[in-house]
Amino acid sequence: MEVRFALPNLMLQALPLLEALVQQGFEAVFVGGCVRDTAMGLPIKDVDIATSARPEQVMSIFPRCIPTGLQHGTVTVLHQGGSYEVTTFRTESEYEKHRRPLQVEFIDRLDGDLLRRDLTINAMAMNAAGELYDPFHGLIDLKKRTVRCVGDADARFQEDALRMLRTIRFASQFEFTVAHSTWRALNKHRELLRYIAMERVQAELDRMIGGAHPGRALHLLAASNLLSYTGTALPAAEKLAKGHASLYSVLDKVADPDARYAALLMAEGITLPDAEDTLKALRLPTQRTNAIMSVLSVNYAMEEQDQITDLRLVWTSTVLRFGEEASRRWLSVVKWDQKHHLHDQTNLFNKWLNGMPAMTLKQLKLNGKQLEEGLRRVPGAWTGELLKRLLLEVALDKLPNEKDLLLKQAQIWNTEDR
Ligand code: ATP
Ligand code: MG
Repeated sequence: MEVRFALPNLMLQALPLLEALVQQGFEAVFVGGCVRDTAMGLPIKDVDIATSARPEQVMSIFPRCIPTGLQHGTVTVLHQGGSYEVTTFRTESEYEKHRRPLQVEFIDRLDGDLLRRDLTINAMAMNAAGELYDPFHGLIDLKKRTVRCVGDADARFQEDALRMLRTIRFASQFEFTVAHSTWRALNKHRELLRYIAMERVQAELDRMIGGAHPGRALHLLAASNLLSYTGTALPAAEKLAKGHASLYSVLDKVADPDARYAALLMAEGITLPDAEDTLKALRLPTQRTNAIMSVLSVNYAMEEQDQITDLRLVWTSTVLRFGEEASRRWLSVVKWDQKHHLHDQTNLFNKWLNGMPAMTLKQLKLNGKQLEEGLRRVPGAWTGELLKRLLLEVALDKLPNEKDLLLKQAQIWNTEDR
């Protein structure tokens, strides 16, 4: 062991765990993401430990632990306010239909444990002194900014097809390239993605789209056309694969993840039903699906318009119909999308939106009851219709949001309409 790193605080706090295991005669090291991120000089998120001790031995050494995944050898150890996953060295034999191992076997040697891991950059270990153990040359790949399967990429993707998505996720997260042999294998085995549960596909996709470089993820997904091979078909997949470089740069600039989904699904030729079915196939939570669909609806409503229509009227009624949140998300996309035909109007839309004295019926200074009493009419469908008409006038800044003036206007319309 030659290469040595200074351990970040989170790992220093976990040192007593390594030491306790070593004292009992076991081998124990840091593994996975915390090692990779430390080698890259990035902050770490959590600390994973691998050890030759069996789960029951781990539990007998540490008084406070949770048997998180005993059959896979994982015990969560609680120590001074922190929690650490301690997993017994293991190999995975036989995979069930290209996903998850059917059986795991506990082993005594670290090498075998690292061999089962997906990518070389994820298959490094570090001891208590910060010395790197790196049999698959993950550090070289980190320096070359490359993601590469451990061992034979063909075999690794056939064992567990989720690794194809993980490969793209890590490549996009760090802006790495995919090693040639790994990329070839990914394209060769892409149809195996159908064996992976849609929830897991979604979780990976979500991390890509919400991550630091969603544009890069989309580029790699499009280049491999991987999304056309999911278990439940994604109706938008083919159109997404035709995505263009300008869309990818839009994604990176838009901050909100759901606005990013919307930006993707605003791509040419994707209909609203296709977009919705795609989000449903991904098992995105209903609330998020609705939020994204509202942004697409805003886009649809705005697309309808040509030069001649009163843009302010169209925009204002769209905001009232689909709400402020969806409208702001739509703006955040179109602002960066230079190809959108309303791109040049976004400053104006933004100004109008910020200046709207009311956007919801709740904000209107006249409620249904007051309106009914003021007009001496029995409640009916007309109440809501008239309130909406008043709200539009207020939002357009044509009528002050004051009770008496609102009622007066309502009276005028009321006599006109009769
Ligand atoms: P992150 O920072 O995103 O959590 P991570 O590397 O910690 O990255 P995890 O998904 O938490 O990723 O997995 C922890 C480790 O387990 C990985 O570094 C990798 O070594 C191994 N691993 C996870 N999933 C797989 C898989 N499908 N096949 C092989 N090894 C895997
Ligand atoms: Mg992790």
